[in-house]
Amino acid sequence: MIEKVLVANRGEIALRVIRTCKTLGIKTVSVYSDEDYNSLHVKQATEAYHIGEAAPAKSYLNQEKILEAVLSSGADSVHPGYGFLSENDDFATLCEKNKITFIGPTAKSMNLCGDKMKCKEAMLAANVPTVPGSPGLVKDADDAKKIANEIGYPVMLKSVYGGGGRGIRIVTSDAELESGYESVTGESIAAVGKSAILVEKFLEKTRHIEYQFARDTHGNTVHIFERECSIQRRNQKLIEQTPSPIVDAKTRQRVGELVRNAAVAVGYTNLGTAEFLRADNGEFYFIEINARLQVEHPITEFVSGLDLVKLQIDIANGEPIPFKQSDLKMNGYAIECRINAEDTFLDFAPSTGPVPDVSIPAGPGVRCDTYLYPGCTVSPFYDSLMAKLVTWGQTFEESRTRMLCALDDFYIQGVETSIPLYKTILNSAEYKNGDLSTDFIKRYGIIDRLTEDLKREKEEKSLAAVAAAVIHSEYFKSRVQDKTNSKWSHRLE
Ligand code: ADP
Ligand code: ADP
Ligand code: MG
Repeated sequence: MIEKVLVANRGEIALRVIRTCKTLGIKTVSVYSDEDYNSLHVKQATEAYHIGEAAPAKSYLNQEKILEAVLSSGADSVHPGYGFLSENDDFATLCEKNKITFIGPTAKSMNLCGDKMKCKEAMLAANVPTVPGSPGLVKDADDAKKIANEIGYPVMLKSVYGGGGRGIRIVTSDAELESGYESVTGESIAAVGKSAILVEKFLEKTRHIEYQFARDTHGNTVHIFERECSIQRRNQKLIEQTPSPIVDAKTRQRVGELVRNAAVAVGYTNLGTAEFLRADNGEFYFIEINARLQVEHPITEFVSGLDLVKLQIDIANGEPIPFKQSDLKMNGYAIECRINAEDTFLDFAPSTGPVPDVSIPAGPGVRCDTYLYPGCTVSPFYDSLMAKLVTWGQTFEESRTRMLCALDDFYIQGVETSIPLYKTILNSAEYKNGDLSTDFIKRYGIIDRLTEDLKREKEEKSLAAVAAAVIHSEYFKSRVQDKTNSKWSHRLE
């Protein structure tokens, strides 16, 4: 039984995992780099170990250092969070060899899921439709060109090892192919030290719809509904919601059945996510399995009432999933906004530095998972995600308006954030109507609308400031008069 978990991560996800451990009476061990000495995850764990320099390769990706911390602390298990080592099957193997419970799938299954081509092959064998594309890996740029002409432009070049929106590129013509091939190869090698490329048909006006699933070591498999993650920038998610406005009960069940088959096909255990693209013609095509806890898991927690980290720990303990598919009911609507430290107007470039002050939103149906506190620092060394702002409502409209209010209440001093962008999106008629697609921001000229919204806001603010100044001076004038004869004078003393 798991009694002490080392959390091999930082930031909000480390805090998220520590919270559930605390409620279960499980001890926690944090690890930290030079940069994170003052971070909350260090303070909130039972104990903490320094593992190296700021650069991820020298700390959060250093497997030996992390193993050393596991052995020194006497932790019996590791929770990898997301990013960093979470989908690294070598690390899962290292844990397995040292008899440390890795809270996630087996190294073998993770290896299969981490290779987009092998995973697609497993899906085809299990009758799960995948995006049409090359039958296997392409040999070189010329081979890719040949296949691209067969399936027809535009196509997507993907490194089978890519992730987090890196290592994929749209190519619209022969002329673009060579440079596209080179940049995908370069990005993939920079991220994981290797590259292997497949070609897919690029689906236009598509929606990203994914399913949370869980499978225990006894072979029980459930899906915990879909999440729509179509609001993206650079193929990375920004806003997620569940239920998806386009998925009805029948579709949910039909695709859910595919997901359960997918989990069995890769011999999956623990929690995972099966990602699909929904083409404009209504077809669902599998794209990949994310073999870890997902950034957007809280929206599923809101509508299912489950604690997904607890479920991960229970499954890692060898316990059967304590409910059946038919026990799960979807309750209400949830939305997540990824609050990033970035400048929308500088092509989403990271914005880092000290955060002298911060005010975290709260209220009915509001959840904010964050590492921020007044006086903290947003580091340039790590991911730009500062907070996950999540709201729940009985209706979609309630969750949407609660989100708008929470975004308005969120004050982060010192860095640029994606908050203004989200206000513009959530206020747009297209978002309200559920007219979503992965190119939403470009398709509806959202950046131009944001520019207008900000201009209007600035004008309104300066008008309000003038009005406030006038009222202020009137107030003092009246105060002098009131002193002599007004019935309100007592209020002004
Ligand atoms: P999710 O579906 O959970 O949102 P993402 O694909 O956005 O997952 O990735 C989650 C986190 O993991 C992000 O912070 C991203 O930067 C990081 N990440 C995922 N895969 C990789 C990879 N291959 N290389 C570098 N970072 C990655
Ligand atoms: P990653 O591992 O980086 O998450 P994915 O294969 O999951 O890569 O794709 C990430 C995003 O890229 C998708 O959510 C979608 O927006 C876009 N995408 C991927 N494949 C295609 C495709 N064949 N056609 C159109 N868009 C795609
Ligand atoms: Mg993906």
